[in-house]
Amino acid sequence: MKILVMNAGSSSQKSCLYDLSGNSSGNGKEQLSEQPPQPLWQAEIDWTHQSGVAELKVKTQQQSLKEEIPFESRSPVMAYMLETLWSGPTQVIAAATEISGVGHRVVHGGQQYQDSVKITPEVKQTIADLATLAPVHNPVNLEGIEAIEAILGDVPQVAVFDTAFHARMPEAAAVYPVPYEWLKQGIRRYGFHGTSHRYCAQRTAQLLDRPLQDLRIVTCHLGNGCSLAAIQAGQSIDTTMGFTPLDGLMMGSRSGSIDPGILLYLMRQEGYTVEKLESVLNKGSGLLGVSGVSNDMRSVMEAIEAGNVQAKLAVEIYIHRLKQCIGSMIASLGGLDVLVFTAGVGENAPQIRAGACEAFAYLGLQLDLERNAQSPRDQLISSPDSTIPVLIIHTQEDWTIAWDCWNLLRE
Ligand code: ADP
Repeated sequence: MKILVMNAGSSSQKSCLYDLSGNSSGNGKEQLSEQPPQPLWQAEIDWTHQSGVAELKVKTQQQSLKEEIPFESRSPVMAYMLETLWSGPTQVIAAATEISGVGHRVVHGGQQYQDSVKITPEVKQTIADLATLAPVHNPVNLEGIEAIEAILGDVPQVAVFDTAFHARMPEAAAVYPVPYEWLKQGIRRYGFHGTSHRYCAQRTAQLLDRPLQDLRIVTCHLGNGCSLAAIQAGQSIDTTMGFTPLDGLMMGSRSGSIDPGILLYLMRQEGYTVEKLESVLNKGSGLLGVSGVSNDMRSVMEAIEAGNVQAKLAVEIYIHRLKQCIGSMIASLGGLDVLVFTAGVGENAPQIRAGACEAFAYLGLQLDLERNAQSPRDQLISSPDSTIPVLIIHTQEDWTIAWDCWNLLRE
């Protein structure tokens, strides 16, 4: 089965084509059990390349190309990107003509979706309605679904929601301590990065060769956006992101949790508007806001080497909050069987992992500092006598989307 994956973000559109032939062993709904094959075709549009000009990169196993494309609306650029499926190597063209399903990352599934679903007109309407909760992302996701309808006609499509993995969290974790009526307006903790947390949990069980059912896992997704999940028997029972992806950990340019009283103060005393607050908290806070250098951990680390005091403080806060939140996830789980780091910072920054793990030495958690320094992918970085294994896992969101799509469409 050939599956196309569409992963649309606010600033980029990533797509890839997988051949899942040979995965059809066994019956019923299967757990992710294969290491991802190399995609036959990968494409990425960077909408922020230059004002009004997108950059398209396409990579196949045989060739790669890069092109600048002026644009007024996104749909023609997406159509152009998809056309490269039919102008590439013969192997890709052959696979493109056999696409049996398209899996889309959709950011918000609200309370309506606890799992991935086949896209119907009703599902599209719900995704559109949920744009009130995800105004930047859901409309872009819908654009991707409609672009596929226009190009591939009635090929089955599947929505894989970032929120779905957290949708069964216990009420005590999901409901905010505010007037109960707010809950009826949809104000509750939804959580995000669900596809990554779910993949990491399944991959953890595979790597440790233990049943997922028996494990209490804390997964640390540390990318530009950062969140933790507390996973018990394969289910998310708590997470750090909330009603929006602004909650929880300190991130690249997002604040994470702050006292809501600060917002009231700024509105009252400084006349901050909603737009200004939204912009500062999303784009001018986190590592960037404190360091004044960058939202990129690598640049902040370089600035520390050069003696930048604010950069040093930024990383200290980042680690402090990471430790605090890991501690709260452990409390929700009532213990910890394995700690997992993933995404750009989680997979590549030994200092951050070491800083966070230090706090759990009292539990007998011990890193192998040499292995940690090497950032080995999909391997243990804890010492052999650590009471709690620590893993780095390379997150595979696109592969998980392809897998869900395959699982739903073969039924
Ligand atoms: P996104 O959340 O956009 O998918 P990624 O998971 O790719 O982002 O993470 C991006 C972040 O990873 C970058 O902003 C950068 O701070 C961090 N990063 C990538 N490589 C390294 C590295 N070698 N050391 C430290 N941080 C890194």
